[in-house]
Amino acid sequence: MNLELSEEQTAVRRLARDFVEREIAPNVVEWDRAEDVDRSIVKKLGEVGFLGLTIDEEYGGSGGDHLAYCLVTEELGRGDSSVRGIVSVSLGLVAKTIAARGSEEQKRRWLPGLTSGELVGCFGLTEPGTGSDAGHLTTRAVREGDAYVINGTKMFITNGTWADVVLLFARSTDAPGHKGVSAFLVPTDTPGLTRRTIHGKLGLRGQATAELVLEDVRVPATAMLGEEGKGFSVAMSALAKGRMSVAAGCVGIAQAALDAAVRYAGEREQFGKPIAGHQLVQELISDIAVDVDAARLLTWRVADLIDRGQPFAVESSKAKLFASEAAVRAANNALQVFGGYGYIDEYPAGKLLRDARVMTLYEGTSQIQKLVIGRALTGVSAF
Ligand code: FAD
Repeated sequence: MNLELSEEQTAVRRLARDFVEREIAPNVVEWDRAEDVDRSIVKKLGEVGFLGLTIDEEYGGSGGDHLAYCLVTEELGRGDSSVRGIVSVSLGLVAKTIAARGSEEQKRRWLPGLTSGELVGCFGLTEPGTGSDAGHLTTRAVREGDAYVINGTKMFITNGTWADVVLLFARSTDAPGHKGVSAFLVPTDTPGLTRRTIHGKLGLRGQATAELVLEDVRVPATAMLGEEGKGFSVAMSALAKGRMSVAAGCVGIAQAALDAAVRYAGEREQFGKPIAGHQLVQELISDIAVDVDAARLLTWRVADLIDRGQPFAVESSKAKLFASEAAVRAANNALQVFGGYGYIDEYPAGKLLRDARVMTLYEGTSQIQKLVIGRALTGVSAF
């Protein structure tokens, strides 16, 4: 793998860095306290092309490779994980899946809006009774003539409150386990679909997370994405790429923790000198730095494998597992460097830690990533 960035990749990273400085950084504390980002940020992300990365221009996308996507995701994660998550879901899980698996009609209907930021997408897999064991989901889609009628509840859906379309997974045949699951594109204004915002999250507080309830939601049969009964594989391939995006966001968190810790250690004086001059503070900082580099390299490797058309799913699980745990460690170490000031939200470390914590839980917990890696190594499924 060539670790040197191309001119285009360097330029897109600079663009993302400038965007974060201008549009995100000044608002981070306010959005976190208000439990809501300013929604105009979505249109701005679309205007600058960040919601269309890796998508063909024909459908409104801005092209680029997966490494460029990682670089932008890292910068957004460095600025605010809530904003990063909006992109990772609307582009990463929804638009990219429509681009890869959707019919021509579905691409033309949804992609221009999703890539421009006119529309927002969400990904409806988790249910109250099925999280890690998503293959046993119970939402049902029953065929009636040329339509499906869907009933069920989806839990913890990122962007759920404001999304215009949900990529929804429901059981449409009697085949057992994940074999009976199909994917549907359901407009959220369809009668029978209601949503409830979930408040009181530890982190990602600016992000709209919702419970979606579907009661006799009727969609045309053409809303099915991909083949009947193949929905679980649609979900799993979306999540395999999604995990790279989460990992890149975690690199951003760890980098932000490093930047903040180094800056503060140079300014804060104790025992007559900057705390940067105390060996145990340097240990905290160097531990963060090693986590940043290792997480970044694992994440870039996934992007490189995808761009070269190689298998990447297990590598993506490794990157997500390591980067999410590294981001928690890095933010916690940065908080320690800040001492008591790290514990209040005028300083960045506390929010970085709260935001990092969920990364070890969603898109597959750390335990689930270990089972994916273990299965690949031993040939034995231990789920
Ligand atoms: P459970 O599956 O009940 O797990 C509980 C514990 O048991 C965990 O420690 C887990 O690792 C462990 N465990 C479970 N099974 C095993 C096993 N076989 N071996 C060992 N340990 C095991 N979902 C979506 O579909 N779309 C979204 O946009 C989305 N966004 C989210 C945003 C947030 C802020 C949060 C918190 C969650 C989001 N989720 C989303 C849901 C998320 O993916 C699930 O929470 C996650 O998959 C875990 O499921 P669970 O919470 O039901 O935990």
